[in-house]
Amino acid sequence: MSKIISEISKTGWRFNNSYVRLPEMMFSRLNPVPSKAPKLIILNEILSEELGLNFSDVKDDHLALMFAGNLLPQGSECIAQAYAGHQFGYFTILGDGRAIMIGEHVAKNNKKFDIQFKGSGQTPYSRDADGRAALGPMLREYIISEAIHSLGIPTTRSLAVVTTGESIIRETFLPGAILTRVASSHIRVGTFQYAAIKGDINSLKTLVNYTIDRHYPNLKNLNNPTLGLLNTVMEKQIELVTHWMRVGFIHGVMNTDNMAISGETIDYGPCAFMDTYNPETVFSSIDHNGRYAYFNQPGITKWNLLRFAETLLPLIHDKKDKAIEIAEETINNFGTVYKKCWLKMMCKKLGLFEEVIEDETLINDLLTWMKQNKADYTNTFCSLSKENVLKDKLFQDSKFLNWYQRWQTRLTQNKKSKQLSLNLMCSVNPLVIPRNYKVEEALDAASINGDLVPMYNLLEVLKKPYDNRQEIIAYQSP
Ligand code: AMP
Ligand code: MG
Repeated sequence: MSKIISEISKTGWRFNNSYVRLPEMMFSRLNPVPSKAPKLIILNEILSEELGLNFSDVKDDHLALMFAGNLLPQGSECIAQAYAGHQFGYFTILGDGRAIMIGEHVAKNNKKFDIQFKGSGQTPYSRDADGRAALGPMLREYIISEAIHSLGIPTTRSLAVVTTGESIIRETFLPGAILTRVASSHIRVGTFQYAAIKGDINSLKTLVNYTIDRHYPNLKNLNNPTLGLLNTVMEKQIELVTHWMRVGFIHGVMNTDNMAISGETIDYGPCAFMDTYNPETVFSSIDHNGRYAYFNQPGITKWNLLRFAETLLPLIHDKKDKAIEIAEETINNFGTVYKKCWLKMMCKKLGLFEEVIEDETLINDLLTWMKQNKADYTNTFCSLSKENVLKDKLFQDSKFLNWYQRWQTRLTQNKKSKQLSLNLMCSVNPLVIPRNYKVEEALDAASINGDLVPMYNLLEVLKKPYDNRQEIIAYQSP
């Protein structure tokens, strides 16, 4: 055992744990529940390198022990975090019910990352659930989060997946697994909701200061840092949801406990990318009312930010009425700011530089046509950057041809070259996304047959979603 510990100590872990210095009510100290027979399924070598970690001298079996939490790296201090959240609109006290944060690793650039084991067993926040996770969903989070990262969208990352050697009970018996999630922090809107509901203003203040120190240190110098935090989190979330809209990503469970203050995409559950363009698309089978449908995502972002603002009121102003007025004034800007970001992003998708007033209609007319003609969201934008776009049968439609002419005329108003316009389109319109059937195919092969090749191939293709090359063709059809 000591040999393995010494092996692990040479991999570059550098912990500097700060969350454990927050008020004690914010977390519980406990280690992961050891797994029976951990086995390494996948390790993200590129991410390891980015984090300043080198696992090449450690045997897979030993890595499995480490990523299962059976053997913890030196300097780690394990906790489950407390938080609350609005789930589908209803407030609940939650907390890490199946995850343990083993500590904050300081990477090469001195940036700090939470290292969390998801699926690591019961905690004081598990309620009646088993604290475990199945291999399929953990690999799914690995694939989609890494794809989101490669698409240039802020997200938590995935460092490794191990199986536990134990079966877990869902509708059937499934192989248990643990995902190592890397996040710039796990502070959520729900973390603030938890601190606020406890009614201790000093703890709330400590959390605000901690968050500002960790993520937005520039805000410290403002007259009202709390208001600065609200404004900044709003900006970050608008940026994030605009990215999701750009690539057709549907998060699926935008509960307030799944909204990170860092602005990273977090908690990949029943998320997916839209194929056919339909703004009402929903993937989660439990989202009966379409609360988290594609086109509702910006509105829900605003709703969640309102919940965030409510937690901050006592620190925004001493007088409640005044605090509400200030917070409302801030959040009321959401619509205008989001629309501006969305328009700018959509203009890029169409290769338009300086926006003109008519662009919004041009964009909406294309989207309407796409919806009516059940066009694939990703592939339509890819086709637009092709010379021979009109050869495709789908586009030989009088409504589309009319739109196309208007777009061509609009392109001539660009003050930059056609090539630059094309480059702009190619930089924001992915050629390849994790298509649902490809993801399912890879997960089935891995979970049912133990065949990891389809997953490796998929991950390889998703690493460069904007690069045109032969290998992607098999991954492009809806
Ligand atoms: P999520 O839907 O992943 O955002 O989780 C919502 C809440 O349920 C969080 O507090 C999770 O920790 C908890 N949770 C989800 N699955 C489990 C499980 N299998 N065991 C214990 N807690 C769970
Ligand atoms: Mg969650």
